Order: sequence, then C-alpha cells, then structure tokens
Amino acid sequence: MTSSCFDSPHKPQWCPGCGNYSILLALKDALLQSKCKPEETVIVSGIGCSSKMPHFVKTYAFESLHGRSLPVASAIKLANNSLRVIAVSGDGDGYGIGMGHLVHAMRRNFDINYIVTDNQVYGLTTGQTSPTSPKGFKTKSTPFGVIEIPVNPMALAIASGATYAARGFAGDIKHLSSLIAGGLAHKGFSLIDVLQPCVTFNQLGTYQYYQKNCYKLEGTGHNPQDKVAAFTRSQEWGEKKIPIGLFYTEERPTYEDEIPHIQKKPLVKHGISNVNISKLLDELE
Ligand code: SF4
Repeated sequence: MTSSCFDSPHKPQWCPGCGNYSILLALKDALLQSKCKPEETVIVSGIGCSSKMPHFVKTYAFESLHGRSLPVASAIKLANNSLRVIAVSGDGDGYGIGMGHLVHAMRRNFDINYIVTDNQVYGLTTGQTSPTSPKGFKTKSTPFGVIEIPVNPMALAIASGATYAARGFAGDIKHLSSLIAGGLAHKGFSLIDVLQPCVTFNQLGTYQYYQKNCYKLEGTGHNPQDKVAAFTRSQEWGEKKIPIGLFYTEERPTYEDEIPHIQKKPLVKHGISNVNISKLLDELE
C-alpha cells in the first residue's frame, strides 16, 4: 500500500499555513503505518475547519452535526464493530458542545480513535473564544480577555477513563503520526489532542510559541502506565514546559467487548435487514 491509497479527489481549502494541513498528513501516514484499509475505515467529524478532514481522506466518511461526532462514531462502532472508527473534531466542537459525549465515550471505552485539533479558538466562525482559550486571551467575543480557566484535555481524559491519552503538535508531523498510529494500535478509546496553530485567528498559539515551549515526554523517564505521574504532567503548561507525547495508557475491556451479541459477528451481519420493520416505523410516525 502507498499513501496515495488514502488520497481523495477533494483538496483542502484551509488558510495557507493552517496546522490542519500537517494533521491531515500525519493522519494519512498513521493509517498507512497501521496498515488500515480504506474500505474498513470510517472517519466521522462534527462541524468546524478541521471537521472537513473526512473529505480529504479516501475512507468511508460521515460529517455530522456540531459536537456530535462521538455519538455517530459510537453508533457506527456498535453497528459494525469490525470497522476501524476514527473521529475528528476541533476544540470548540469536542470540548464545548460535545464535551458530555466525550466524557461518556471515554468512560465506556469504545474502541474509537478521537483526534481533536486544538487551536484554542473557533476558527470557522471567525475567531471567538473556545473552551481551551487561555485566561486573558482577547478575541472578538471576549474583547477584555477570557475570564475563566481553560479545559485541560489531558487531565480530563485521565480522570474520565480514557485508556490512551496523548498530545501532539501539528509542527512535528513525524511525532504526531506516531501518536496517532499508537492510538490506532490501541484497543479502546484514544484521545489525541493536537496543538494546532490557527494562523488567522490565534496570534498566541503560534508555531514559534509551541516550538519554543514544547518538550517530548519520551526520554524523560515518564511512565505512561503511572496514572498519578500522567496527571501531574497534565498540569504542566507554560514557558519551556508544555509536554507532548503519550501521557497515559491502560488496558481495559472495550464497551463492545462487554456485549455478548456482537462477539461472534458484527450487528450488521445478524440478518436484521431481512426483518420487516415497517410496522415499527408506522408506530413511530
Ligand atoms: Fe485553519 Fe484557522 Fe484558517 Fe480555520 S481559520 S482554516 S483553523 S487557520
């Protein structure tokens, strides 16, 4: 297989320099590394700049509603657990309106890979404050600066039961691709939060800022199976101390593993397509 297996005829139209271009490359590279087959893979998204991602990768795809990528991804996984299901959201989509879905998907441990392109701003709607905007950040919706503290995705993932929690940076494609591939190899819910410069609406979270301040957890002696150590690392942020890499991982049965009816074959292969459901549909009208 070559990377062209995942090439879609559609070309992205993000702003020149947008971090989403690198995330797309890293995703395709990870799919290739993980020997994923386009016909066995589904990418689901919500609404936002990054949620256009499924258009640009040749797999099955579903662009859902704002904040709803995970309910759709979970339903696809339950209907056909032989598929590899990936969800992509932005920080507004995933950590704002979709936050409740995220917490429940993590505690249920669906075998879903969730990539959140985190640019700390609502880009598609021209630059309002998002749930990960830092305190004091001035945007058109907060002209005097954000007054609340931001969501901490890694701390949230560790506390909510995610079995793979990692943070990557769009400016380091190779490292990011290895984190996504790690999530694809992992059986269970993986959250990969990606520091994604929005070159148009975020003048704080720039490539230069992250290049200067990120450090890799690999090589520091960090043990990703140590929950307390992972939580401690999740509290780090600021000058020269933004960790990227795998924070935490554990093995736990997935939600699908706990459903006996789909152990031998996926729900879609149970022959329910031969059942006449018109009576049921009539009742629901
Ligand atoms: Fe990327 Fe920001 Fe432009 Fe959206 S607005 S395409 S996130 S640079």
